[in-house]
Amino acid sequence: MPAIRLEQLRASVRGAVIQPGDAAYESARAVYNAMFDKRPASIVRAVDVADVIAAVDYARTNGMLLAVRGGGHNGGGLGTCDDGLVIDLSLMKGIRVDAAARTVRVGAGCLWGDVDHATHPYGLAVPCGVISSTGVGGLTLGGGIGHLTRAFGLTVDNLLSADVVLADGTVVTADASNHPDLFWALRGGGGNFGVVTSFEFQAHPVRTLYAGPTFWPLDQSVEVLKAYRELITSAPEYVNGFFAFLTIPPAPMFPDHLHMQKVCGVMWSCTGPAARAAAATLPMRSVGTPLLDHQADMPLPVVNSLFDGLYPPGLQWYWRADFVEELSDAAVAEHARHGAALPTMHSTMHLYPIDGAAHRVARSETAFSYREANWAEVIVGVDPDPANAATITKWCKDYFDALHPYSAGGAYVNFMMDEGQERVQASFRDNYERLAAIKAAYDPANLFRVNQNIRPAVAAAG
Ligand SMILES: Cc1cc2nc3c(=O)[nH]c(=O)nc-3n(C[C@H](O)[C@H](O)[C@H](O)COP(=O)(O)OP(=O)(O)OC[C@H]3O[C@@H](n4cnc5c(N)ncnc54)[C@H](O)[C@@H]3O)c2cc1C
Repeated sequence: MPAIRLEQLRASVRGAVIQPGDAAYESARAVYNAMFDKRPASIVRAVDVADVIAAVDYARTNGMLLAVRGGGHNGGGLGTCDDGLVIDLSLMKGIRVDAAARTVRVGAGCLWGDVDHATHPYGLAVPCGVISSTGVGGLTLGGGIGHLTRAFGLTVDNLLSADVVLADGTVVTADASNHPDLFWALRGGGGNFGVVTSFEFQAHPVRTLYAGPTFWPLDQSVEVLKAYRELITSAPEYVNGFFAFLTIPPAPMFPDHLHMQKVCGVMWSCTGPAARAAAATLPMRSVGTPLLDHQADMPLPVVNSLFDGLYPPGLQWYWRADFVEELSDAAVAEHARHGAALPTMHSTMHLYPIDGAAHRVARSETAFSYREANWAEVIVGVDPDPANAATITKWCKDYFDALHPYSAGGAYVNFMMDEGQERVQASFRDNYERLAAIKAAYDPANLFRVNQNIRPAVAAAG
């Protein structure tokens, strides 16, 4: 196909093509993590599949760098690029719930808050992340960890099919019977294989979660972490709770005397009746002397958006992550040391449980490989002020360096910055080779490379 000219692209898409100098350019190029300030040559705001095909063809025939943006939340700023083309999917928003089949068809521009909004009236929910402004696209393709992981598995464990625009501009539907290799790769392999324009998920009957935090003073964090590692790995699957070091924000929902206090805590989010969840978490909530211990039945969309206000777009974020199989006493001691040194109010460390239902899927069943890990650990230095970028980065790296020797090796790709090829391979382990072969079949020229990149098998061999 000869190179498509810009005027041809403009004439063939229904969405806007935004370029430097256009009034919309500055807002259109911004991504969630303000550490990234990239200037694409063009941004196509696709409104339908035909727009996505036209944009993919334009990038390919002009040899342009191509970035695909869902919610724009990626820690490594992978929803944009310098000088290339960005396909912004944010206007592709439709959602259809099939209540009888308990399935949901979701447009690629949706955020998780859109999905919760659409499914909640039916008493249904799709397992997703803990912030509602995160994009469905990036979170799903990397795996998807959140409040429902122990009960219903990762987001990819609930993916039934995906419509995909491939690198050559053709469109396929991938599911268990059609393009099964592609479907396997999409479940954890990120945006390496094409632009997913629509996702179909299995939903579950969840209307409320018994949710809320228990906070302890920092000097009890060793005792708390040791109790946490015992409780969560042996708890029934309806119990979920991620551990965190955090600073209690000055929000009205917290008592004044706790504002800006650094603490450790567990954010509980349990399915099932309140009494059952309260009883199952009690042994942990009785450890030490909690500063605050409050859970209640809350609508699921409320739980999934509790942190949205604390983390608006435009903050500086520095990310590091690992998978963790066991929390040894030595690791607990390092956590206590670095957790106590949180550099800013927004900075935090979370340990998300990924056992329960997520463990019942074999490591070769989807591209997401770390099925025997018990936690996805993420350390994020966060602050609104770019002047603090060096401080939050140093704290994050020091913390990571201290804990990495106790980790399982790789990391959840959605919690990584740009850390190089070795780290990507470590995160997929023995699934990498199969991913590279599928990449060679579907994207041999590596058009989709602004991601945690899987190199096509032939190029890797060369
Ligand atoms: C505040 C915050 C909270 C988070 N919480 C969680 C959490 O609880 N659980 C969790 O699992 N993750 C969480 N994440 C991580 C999140 O999953 C990743 O940042 C993810 O990449 C975001 O997806 P996105 O679509 O918003 O990002 P984008 O920046 O738009 O895209 C990220 C990557 O995915 C690709 N991509 C996106 N959409 C498509 C598509 N339709 N087709 C092909 N490729 C696509 C992009 O090309 C890019 O490589 C969180 C991130 C943030 C910033």
